[in-house]
Amino acid sequence: MFFFSTDYLLWVLLPTILLTGWAAWRVRSTYGRWSKVDSGIGLNAFDFARRLLDRQGLTDVRIEPTPGQLTDHYDPRGKVLRVSQAVASGQIGRSDDPARGAPSVPSGNLSVAAAAVIAHEVGHALQDHQRDPWMQVRSVIVPAAQIGSNLGPWLVVGGLIFQIEGLALAGLLAFGAAVVFTLVTLPVEIGASGKALAFVEGLGMVGERQDGARAVLKAAAWTYVAAALTAILTFLYYAFLVFGRRD
Ligand SMILES: [Zn+2]
Repeated sequence: MFFFSTDYLLWVLLPTILLTGWAAWRVRSTYGRWSKVDSGIGLNAFDFARRLLDRQGLTDVRIEPTPGQLTDHYDPRGKVLRVSQAVASGQIGRSDDPARGAPSVPSGNLSVAAAAVIAHEVGHALQDHQRDPWMQVRSVIVPAAQIGSNLGPWLVVGGLIFQIEGLALAGLLAFGAAVVFTLVTLPVEIGASGKALAFVEGLGMVGERQDGARAVLKAAAWTYVAAALTAILTFLYYAFLVFGRRD
């Protein structure tokens, strides 16, 4: 079976696991480090989000809490910015070791990491408001990408097993939509982080704290790069299976 071949293991699975694992570790460690440092902004998560949104004229965007860690996101359909409980309470990085001395971030005050995450989501809200072209392209291809990533691999496998070339090609094309989605996601995410850095600088987060915010946003960006590379490698492997079988 193709998915258990040495080629697949060596050229797709192994680099994917290493890259994804490295990116996830980097996010955790960078976030953990900067969640212990006070941003100096002197606001809690919700007040900070509200101030950033209002400053950009986004007074119609609502803010809601959402459960989980790093589940923060902006929902363009509902115009809602959802702040995770972990970010809201500034508990990430300390939750795994509650016994460790006095926290350096006073409760209610925002950590550098939490400020960076919130500013990034406000960046998405601003992209939505400004009708960012990449964001618009991305929302157009979401349905095709979702179908393509779920159905594409099955069509490729089905086409190869039953030797129906058209089916395998259709699967490849469908999976291609998922690849395009991961690529279009990159300028959206990097754009939001660029805006986020400008926001926090405008609020007086400069020097080491701004470097910290940049490190957190950069680490998060690598997870999207990892996802894009994973999709490309997988696509190339499917293409190799489909076209390599042609005589
Ligand atoms: Zn984002």
